[in-house]
Amino acid sequence: MKKILVTGGAGFVGSHLCERLLSEGNEVICLDNYFTGSKRNIEHLMDHHYFELVRHDITNPYMVEVDEIYNLACPASPVHYQYNPIKTVKTSVMGAINMLGLAKRVKAKILQASTSEVYGDPTVHPQLETYWGNVNPIGRRSCYDEGKRCAETLFMDYHKENNVKIKIIRIFNTYGPRMHPQDGRVVSNFIVQALKGDDITVFGDGTQTRSFQYVDDLVEGTCRMMNSRDGFIGPVNIGNPNEFTMLQLAREVIDLTGSTSKIVFLPLPKDDPMQRRPDINLAKQELNGWEPEIQLREGLQLTVDYFDGLLRNH
Ligand code: NAD
Ligand code: UDP
Repeated sequence: MKKILVTGGAGFVGSHLCERLLSEGNEVICLDNYFTGSKRNIEHLMDHHYFELVRHDITNPYMVEVDEIYNLACPASPVHYQYNPIKTVKTSVMGAINMLGLAKRVKAKILQASTSEVYGDPTVHPQLETYWGNVNPIGRRSCYDEGKRCAETLFMDYHKENNVKIKIIRIFNTYGPRMHPQDGRVVSNFIVQALKGDDITVFGDGTQTRSFQYVDDLVEGTCRMMNSRDGFIGPVNIGNPNEFTMLQLAREVIDLTGSTSKIVFLPLPKDDPMQRRPDINLAKQELNGWEPEIQLREGLQLTVDYFDGLLRNH
């Protein structure tokens, strides 16, 4: 049995990861400041003998004896990370320093949840880990993009200078149950709008693309990365390489829900990346043939069912 710290454990991805780690017989400490996460996401784990919940903000140091740390704490939706951009940088950068300091002190292995946003609005397609990205350092998305880039730098430097055992994954757009219904990300927005019969808000002309990964595939890839061979530290892309335009996504959601919602077009936010698709060959090679198993329609159906239940209970 391992003792594992999950920062951001009460969030969308973190709650699924805590569940998985507990099911494998580990002891899990879930740390969160509840900025975008909530106790509701992990309430079903509360009675578990080996689950512990800690309210803490990772911009402040935290001390605990653990074997592994999954550093997920950070708002991920543009609406939330732009709400207080300075705090977002602090969470990414000071949070990384605090968690790396902890890993160094207790000799824990630490995994960083980085992001495809480190590639910015990419000029190379699909995105390989060797691509350095095309990021605006002073735009609306910079607090998140540059914060995450700096966190990767810190992880690499703690590894080189202090021998900290690190792993870095670059997560591409992920969706599924327990996304916050109001967090502004496209999948949750479209599904909630379709279920309520509201207009579906496509930004720009809807030709921009994303590659959507179902949360279970991410959790599988994340755990395989933590347990990968010692010499492999990443960064490695974890995402689904099937690429869709936002207009295709809107039509798929309308089709699945049988909604009468209309598609409306709103202005494209500044610096919104035009295309995004992971090259996952490195993940396949290093993570025992890992690749996504749940494709968009199946994953959307599971997510629609979740939001349907949520909206009915409110
Ligand atoms: P989320 O917003 O649901 O979860 C983030 C969690 O971190 C929340 O529970 C929040 O309350 C907590 N948190 C935020 N700031 C904190 C702080 N200073 N101290 C302690 N806790 C804090 O987002 P998510 O989608 O679950 O994302 C989890 C991680 O994965 C993030 O680091 C995100 O950058 C990364 N990621 C996610 C995606 C995606 O599509 N979901 C894509 C790329 C990267
Ligand atoms: N988007 C959209 N309508 C919405 C929310 C988002 O068309 O209601 C678009 C957004 O402009 C972007 C894509 O969907 O091009 C993905 O947005 P999201 O915020 O989910 O993720 P990110 O931009 O960080 O990849």
